[in-house]
Amino acid sequence: MEKIYLDNAATTPINSEVLAEMMPYLTTNFGNPNSLHEAGRVSKAGIEQARNRVALSLGCKPSEVYFTSGATESNNWFITQFVKANEKKGKHIITSKIEHPSVMRVCKQLENEGYRVTYLDVDQNGLVKIEDLLHEIAGDTILITIMAANNEVGAIQNIQTIANIAKEHNITFHTDATQAVGALVLDMQKMGIDALSLSAHKLGGPKGVGALCVRTGVKFGKFMLGGEQESGMRAGTSNVAGIVGLGKAIELACRDITINSKKLRTIRDYFIRNVTEKIDGVKLNGHPKQRLPNNANFSFSRISGESLVCLLDTFGIAVSTGSACSSGSVEPSYVLQAMQVPLDLVDGAVRFTFSISNTKQELDFVVIKLIECVSKLRKISPKTKRGR
Ligand code: PMP
Repeated sequence: MEKIYLDNAATTPINSEVLAEMMPYLTTNFGNPNSLHEAGRVSKAGIEQARNRVALSLGCKPSEVYFTSGATESNNWFITQFVKANEKKGKHIITSKIEHPSVMRVCKQLENEGYRVTYLDVDQNGLVKIEDLLHEIAGDTILITIMAANNEVGAIQNIQTIANIAKEHNITFHTDATQAVGALVLDMQKMGIDALSLSAHKLGGPKGVGALCVRTGVKFGKFMLGGEQESGMRAGTSNVAGIVGLGKAIELACRDITINSKKLRTIRDYFIRNVTEKIDGVKLNGHPKQRLPNNANFSFSRISGESLVCLLDTFGIAVSTGSACSSGSVEPSYVLQAMQVPLDLVDGAVRFTFSISNTKQELDFVVIKLIECVSKLRKISPKTKRGR
């Protein structure tokens, strides 16, 4: 059975050029980058080339790039260690109700530690309302952390406007750009983004490696204590091959951003048109236009998204309910709830996220199977599993 992978927001396969660049660092170039001998220097050079590539891709300086184990670590590190380093200025943080758990849970924890956190509502398309942000800014606000694009519904926030507002009010702006890097042009310096988190495996790189980019002058502390790696800010022997892979992946993704986004938009819009025309009781979740080029998230009435994901899987079609991080838990998506999607439609939500290698033929096959599966599930259970 041919497999069709439509879950690229969960993770992407490693690009072959990226893998080729990584291989020597998994085999012959195995030196510890902290060692003084030649093998160490070769590894060190690989890391520094990757740092340059990340910096060039995101409009920041190489010295502003810190390699981490992924966006979860980057978000945890920056948010906790920025607020601690700046708490004399204030203890108020502004975020949104649709952030990834690696931001959301950190903010909840900080509330327990005496910080005040405002979780901004989003509109029905998943966008933060700028007037709400302006309204919530107070004298003690030190940090605004709002994701560039949402992992479930693909809604793209008005990051430039938010960065401008943060700057006008002398507040630091951090963005979780995990889903946006490689899909949207991001220039930290031009846009006024003070700190940014990303993960390699969302853009054709390996899992377990990411970066935190922080503009010079932003005060924040160390997270991992130990050796002096990453300018003494992040201890632990570097994941050399992973970092090399991240560097190559971001270079390729940002080089090809225009052409790839155009291809993805064509695929996405073709799929959205077909699904909404051929299946009744379907609602597209997220902004109709201001959405990631590879994201289509639908709610199918009168079925459970989980059942649909499982049934599609039997035909070799990989999709997901909500985000990968929350699937496996039976909790309904807090992102869709924040967007005021009715609970029965929250239950029936399924996310399709494309890559440029998906073909029209694949999508035609997926639509045929979707029609079949949705109608089968509606016959088995006219109500959703929650009986709403
Ligand atoms: N932020 C967003 C928006 C994400 O989609 C993800 C991954 N699902 C993360 C953070 C965390 O990335 P990682 O699991 O690679 O640490």
